[in-house]
Amino acid sequence: MSDSQIPSPSTSPGGEQELEVDLASFLPDGVTLAEADDRPPVDTAALEQIETDLAAVDAALAALDAGTYGRCTTCDEPVDDALLAVDPTHLTCAAH
Ligand SMILES: [Zn+2]
Repeated sequence: MSDSQIPSPSTSPGGEQELEVDLASFLPDGVTLAEADDRPPVDTAALEQIETDLAAVDAALAALDAGTYGRCTTCDEPVDDALLAVDPTHLTCAAH
């Protein structure tokens, strides 16, 4: 068996075209490609969910500060305890 009969992936004709992408341009400032390889890929959907959750927590904390926590922000009726048990950041009653 000779090596010359086995095309290597990097030199095989008709293979996938290499994309000319500057990966470094996608990295945050100060992060090199070598460092980025050690990091898990960023799950942007999860990141957005976290930001949404954080915003809800901020809103709930603001309601606590304002003394309106546990009351619907729309109609001022008490928020059902069951709703708060499921989601402590819930700011509206069951009707809203
Ligand atoms: Zn309401």
